[in-house]
Amino acid sequence: MRVTLIFGGNQGDRKALINEAIKEMSDIGKIELCSSLYETAPWGFESSNSFYNQVVTYTTDLSPESVLDKCQEVEKKLGRVRSGAQFCSRTMDIDILFCDTQIINTPRLTVPHPRMALRNFVLAPLNEIMPDFVHPVTHKTISELFTESPDTLKAEKQLIP
Ligand code: ATP
Ligand code: CA
Ligand code: CA
Repeated sequence: MRVTLIFGGNQGDRKALINEAIKEMSDIGKIELCSSLYETAPWGFESSNSFYNQVVTYTTDLSPESVLDKCQEVEKKLGRVRSGAQFCSRTMDIDILFCDTQIINTPRLTVPHPRMALRNFVLAPLNEIMPDFVHPVTHKTISELFTESPDTLKAEKQLIP
């Protein structure tokens, strides 16, 4: 399957940590698509540290649950401490956005990611690499979701690689 992941963090050397995480996740398969890096103010909480985010699509033979296991292993390896607070500062967060056009609702996993349509930091990089992809639940394309996004935070594309 093709699995689309979003990487994000607002602590430490954000750019280096995202590059490291993308490389570590290559254990699941081959990179098919990769967005630019985006910078966004924190969504849902106050912090002086902005977030960096990047979206990458991999092809993998693993199950969605096994991909989530790997995401959590890499988060831990890169110094993520789970504080209990839902929206908080962190070195690395890796979320599954899509697994092909599968719809998954289990205690551990909701795919497509349920809050993506509310977040420009997800929609902006997604729109860069797969604007015509149709969201399997809302049946809207990524470009439609981005146009209709209620989020007022701007996701700034970083020009220096
Ligand atoms: P948000 O989901 O709003 O972006 P978050 O990423 O900060 O919040 P976490 O604390 O990283 O939330 O994750 C909480 C739990 O979400 C994880 O333990 C995982 O089991 C679950 N989860 C459900 N759906 C997904 C998904 N699509 N990708 C990653 N984790 C998911
Ligand atoms: Ca997240
Ligand atoms: Ca997460």
